[in-house]
Amino acid sequence: MLDIKQLYDGFRNPETVRHLARTIKDEAEDLAAPLNIMEVCGGHTHTIMKFGLKALLPDNIQFIHGPGCPVCVMPKERIDHAVTLAMQPDVILVTLGDMIRVPGSQGSLAQCRARGGDVRPLYDPLDALRIAQDNPTKTVVFFAIGFETSTPMTAVLLQQAESRGVTNLLFHINHVLVPPAVNAVMDDPQVQVNAFIGPSHVSVIQGAKIYQPLVDNFATPVVVAGFEPVDVMESVLRLVRQKVAGEARVDIQYSRAVSPDGNVPAQQLVNTYFETRDAFRWRGLGPIAHSALRLKPEYAHRDAERQFGAVLTDREIDDHKACQCGDILRGLAKPADCRVFGRGCTPQRPLGSCMVSSEGACNAYYRYQGVLNER
Ligand code: SF4
Repeated sequence: MLDIKQLYDGFRNPETVRHLARTIKDEAEDLAAPLNIMEVCGGHTHTIMKFGLKALLPDNIQFIHGPGCPVCVMPKERIDHAVTLAMQPDVILVTLGDMIRVPGSQGSLAQCRARGGDVRPLYDPLDALRIAQDNPTKTVVFFAIGFETSTPMTAVLLQQAESRGVTNLLFHINHVLVPPAVNAVMDDPQVQVNAFIGPSHVSVIQGAKIYQPLVDNFATPVVVAGFEPVDVMESVLRLVRQKVAGEARVDIQYSRAVSPDGNVPAQQLVNTYFETRDAFRWRGLGPIAHSALRLKPEYAHRDAERQFGAVLTDREIDDHKACQCGDILRGLAKPADCRVFGRGCTPQRPLGSCMVSSEGACNAYYRYQGVLNER
């Protein structure tokens, strides 16, 4: 039988990590230019910080943190939507974990709850179905967030609500897409990224093929990496080797979970219920065309944005003046560049979204700053 602990001990083996670090250092001497690797996903940021991987790399290799934290990229006006919905009579607003603590212009959902809003955290999206069934006189709104990874779960919830005739469950859809966001980052002339560690959970669903246009458009290698330190270091080595060889292609390091084509039934389920929005405003990145999903018109009866359209506004709301989340999400700044990092902004009292979630760069820097010792 597969010994999971032994397996993961292997992916965290310090000697393997050190060996990879030595190999990277040797081979990176042949790089013609510095290698600036964007790890798109906040899960990879977390691994890099937690295990101090940056300190193992030579000076000509840098990590640049990307926009792959769904909580971090949610703009304030969407959080305001959630707060407004939660304050409506006979509405229960349900959403996943960290979203409750992200500040909008009217405060966070946690503060809204203190003012009397019925806000309930979910650990499993399907719990929303039970809450709706248990409260037939109320309208339950699922504030759905996440990248391509979590959209299938929302689709399953909707499918279940339809098939069981649970009519009092609505959806406020905030599912966003990785490729358009990464393209937007690369279109910014200030951004110095020339290699990517590709998000792997997204790739489990969508397949690594979704990065081929990125490689084609920008001649930038992409390695889809697992989340353990050995995965990340091996992926860095693979990027170094592509660069030294003058190549740019999509490579799958995380082959134990990711395939080129992904989970086709999950993709089909998502396509049953969702369509692409013309544009969606990302925190820090601004409006990006075709970068998010919404429910198809035939599911308008489930769409909280349509059903509560009279009380929801789409006024753009800027971040706190001191917050540099925007620059961090675009790869132009590091958390320690923010003057309120660890002072006015901490995980206990977050000022910006990047400090809330464990996938946020500011949160990871704060949590592991003893490891990093970068400030
Ligand atoms: S430390 Fe806080 S205020 Fe500064 S960029 Fe990060 S989240 Fe924003």
